[in-house]
Amino acid sequence: MARKRSSIKGEEWTGSEESVPYTPYRGTFLLLLGVCALGVVAAGFLLWYVPTKGLGNIHPALPYVIGAIVLGVGVFILSGALVIALAIVRGKDITPSSRCRGLLVKVFLPIMVLVGGLLKIPRIKIEKAFVDLNNRMVRAMIRKGRRFSPEKILILMPHCIQWDDCKIKVTKDVKNCVGCGRCEIAELVSLSEEYSVKLFVLTGGTVARRRLYEFRPDAVVAVACERDLTSGVQDAYPLPVLAVVNKRPRGYCMDTGVEVQEIRRALEDLLGGRAIAA
Ligand code: SF4
Repeated sequence: MARKRSSIKGEEWTGSEESVPYTPYRGTFLLLLGVCALGVVAAGFLLWYVPTKGLGNIHPALPYVIGAIVLGVGVFILSGALVIALAIVRGKDITPSSRCRGLLVKVFLPIMVLVGGLLKIPRIKIEKAFVDLNNRMVRAMIRKGRRFSPEKILILMPHCIQWDDCKIKVTKDVKNCVGCGRCEIAELVSLSEEYSVKLFVLTGGTVARRRLYEFRPDAVVAVACERDLTSGVQDAYPLPVLAVVNKRPRGYCMDTGVEVQEIRRALEDLLGGRAIAA
C-alpha cells in the first residue's frame, strides 16, 4: 500500500499520517557546532594573546578584575570540595548545604567521572561513593528541619524488580499485583499504602522523568543500580532523592531485589517519623 507523503518544514517525510514525524533538528546541531568551534578557537586565541600582550597592557584594571574572579571561583570550589571531603570523612558532624549538593552533582561528579575514566578508575566506585554522599546530604537537609508530606513523595522502582515470570502488568498499576510474594512488589505495595505515598514500577528513565513531570513530587525514594541512580539524581536535581541500591543476585536487569527495610527507613526519614542517624 502506497504511503502518503508529508512535508515538515520543507523536508520530505515518508511516515504515515498517524505516526509522529522524526525531526532531526540539524539546524540546532549546526548552530551549537558552530558556537562550540568558535568558542574553542576564541579560547585558543586568548591563551596565546593574553600572555603575549599582558593583561595590564590590554587594560590597567584587567589584572585585578580577572584576579578577583579567579580567586572567587577558586575559593568557592575549594571550600565546596573541603566541605564535601569532610562530609565523607566525618559523616554526621558535617552538614553540607544544598549549594554543596549542587556543586557535587553538577560540577564535581561529571569532572570526577571524566578524570576517573582517564585514570581507569572503575566508574562504579565513583557512583557508589556518590550515591552514599548524596543520601547523607539529603538526610542532612532533613536534619536541618526539612519535612515532606506523604502525598508529595514518590517511590520509584525499576521493572526488573518484578519476578521474571510474573505475567501481571504492574508497570501500569502496582495494585494489579496479587501479592504472591515471589518478589518484593507485594511488600512495597503494602508499604506505600501504610505511608500513603505513591509507588511506581518503571520501565526506564524516560518513564521516570514523565512521572516526575506529572506528579511534581517534593522528594523521591528511588531504587536502581548505581549507574541509573547516579544519572537519575543528576537529572532530578535539585529534587531531593534518597537513592537505594538494588540487590542483583542474578546480575543486572533480571530478578533484582531491594531491602524493603531501607525503603521504610527512607520514608520515615523524609516524613520525620524517626531520629535520623547519619
Ligand atoms: S508479588 Fe506481585 S509482582 Fe511479584 S511475582 Fe507476585 S504477583 Fe507478580
